[in-house]
Amino acid sequence: MIIRRDFYINGAWTAPATPRDAQVIDPSTEDACAVISLGGQADTDAAVAAALAAFPAWAATPRAERRAAVVRILQQYERRLEDLSQAISMEMGSPIDHARGSQAPCLPWHLTNFLTAFDQMEWVRPLGPHAPDTMIAQEPIGVVGLITPWNWPMNQIALKVIPAILAGCTCVLKPSEESPLNAMIFAEFCHDAGLPAGVFNLVNGDGVGVGSQLSTHPDVQMISFTGSTRAGKAISKAAADTLKRVTLELGGKGANVIFADADDEAVERGVRHMMDNSGQSCNAPSRMLVQRPIYDRAVTVAAQVADSIKVGSAHQAGDHIGPVVSKRQWDQIQSYIQKGIDEGARLVAGGTGLPEGFNRGFYVKPTVFADVTPGMTIEREEIFGPVLAMIPFDTEADAVRIANDSPYGLTHYVQTQDGAKRNRMALALKAGMVQTNGRSRGAGAFFGGMKSSGRAREGGVWGLEEFLESKAISGWDVTQPLSSE
Ligand code: NAD
Repeated sequence: MIIRRDFYINGAWTAPATPRDAQVIDPSTEDACAVISLGGQADTDAAVAAALAAFPAWAATPRAERRAAVVRILQQYERRLEDLSQAISMEMGSPIDHARGSQAPCLPWHLTNFLTAFDQMEWVRPLGPHAPDTMIAQEPIGVVGLITPWNWPMNQIALKVIPAILAGCTCVLKPSEESPLNAMIFAEFCHDAGLPAGVFNLVNGDGVGVGSQLSTHPDVQMISFTGSTRAGKAISKAAADTLKRVTLELGGKGANVIFADADDEAVERGVRHMMDNSGQSCNAPSRMLVQRPIYDRAVTVAAQVADSIKVGSAHQAGDHIGPVVSKRQWDQIQSYIQKGIDEGARLVAGGTGLPEGFNRGFYVKPTVFADVTPGMTIEREEIFGPVLAMIPFDTEADAVRIANDSPYGLTHYVQTQDGAKRNRMALALKAGMVQTNGRSRGAGAFFGGMKSSGRAREGGVWGLEEFLESKAISGWDVTQPLSSE
C-alpha cells in the first residue's frame, strides 16, 4: 500500500495541516492501492501563499531559463516513464500498455508543442504600421489554480502546468482525488528539474474542499479546469466574486457523421475510438450518425467490432480496455444502459452487468445501441463509458441538424470521401474541433469546445495565451531596442 499524505508546497513535501485520509481505489481489483490526505483551507492558503511569493521572481526570470526548466521536466519524464505509467494504470484503470503508449506520452507531446509555441511568441509587438508607437505586450496573469480530472490525468496536467510556468505564472495544482499518484510523480519531476520553490505546488483534495478554496481565493487570478459541466458551473459561480479568469474544458457528446461514401474502415474506426480508454474521454465519438443506405451494414459491423473488444485488468499487458474508474461511474453507466433499453433503443452489443468471467472490478461490456432517436437520454447525455449510440440519417442537412442539436460542442467527426462535402460539414458543425476521415489534429492545434463543453483553448499558442494578459501601450519609444527578455 502506498502512503502519500504530504503535499508539495514551496519546494518541499509538507504534511497536511490536519490529516484527512482518503483511499485511492484500484478499479481493476476494487482494493485500496494508496492512502492520501485531502487538504483543507490551511493547506490551500499555504500553497497559494508560496505561489504568490514566488511569482515576481518567476515572472522576471529570463524566458530562456523558464524554457530550460521545462526541458528538464521532460528529461525527468524520460527517466521515469515506467513509474508514471504504472501509477496511471493502477489508479484509473488504463491497461498498462495503453498507459505507456497513450496516457503517459501526453506529457512529452504537449510539452514539446508548447516549447515550439513559446519560441514563436511575440511578447512585445507593434500593433501595426498605422500606429507605430502602439505596442501590444503579453504578461503572466499571476497565481493560477489548476483543477484536473482522472480520465486522461497526465494529459490535463501537461496542458495546464507547462503553459502556466512557461508563461511566467506560478501555480497550485489540485489533481483529481481519484488519480492523485501520477500528479505526485509529476511534482517530483518539477522538484528534480530544479523549479524554484513555490513555482509549482500541489495540494490533494476534493472539489468542495481544495477545489472551491482555490476558486474563491483572492490571491488566485485564474482557474483552469477540466472535468464535468456540473463542476464547471460551480467553479464559475465560486470565482465570480473575485472576478477571476476561468477557463473550462468540460464534457462532450461527439457526433461522428458517416456518409454512404465513407471509406471502408470508418465504422470500425469510430467504434474503436469510442471504446478507447473505456469510453472515458470527453471527445469520444459517442453518437454515430450513419447515412441510411449503409446503416444496416454499419450496425452489423459496429456490433461485431464491439463484441471483439476484449476487457481486462489494467495490470495485464495487451490491447484490451480496462475497467472504468470507480463504482460511482460504473453505477452511472449501468443506469444509462438500462435507460437506453427502457427508452426503446435496440441493444446490439454488450448490455448491463459485468462482462463474462468477472466478479470484481469496475468492468463494463462494450455496448452498442442502434435505432437511437434524437432526444433519448443516451443521445443527449454524456455517459463517459464504452457505450455507443447509432442514429440513422438521410440528408446532409439532417446530419448537421442532429449533430448540432446537443448542449455540447467539443469534437465532431465527419467521414466522407467527397472533399467539398467534408469541408462544408466541418464548417457547419458547432464544435470547437472537427476531425475528418480519422485525421488527428496537427501538432500545435488547440483542444477546446463550444457551448456546454466549455470554451478553453488548450495547447499550442492558444494554450499559452490562456495564461497571459495582453496590454496595449501607446507612446512607446521605438528608438529603444526591444529587450529579448
Ligand atoms: P468532476 O468534474 O466532479 O471532477 C473533476 C475535478 O474537479 C476533480 O479534481 C474534482 O475534485 C474537481 N471538482 C469537483 N467539483 C468541484 C467544485 N465544485 N469546485 C472545484 N473543483 C471541483 O468530474 P467527476 O466526478 O470525476 O466525473 C463526473 C463526470 O464528469 C463524468 O461522468 C464525465 O461526464 C465528466 N468528466 C469530464 C471530463 C472531461 O475531460 N471533459 C473529465 C472527467 C469527468
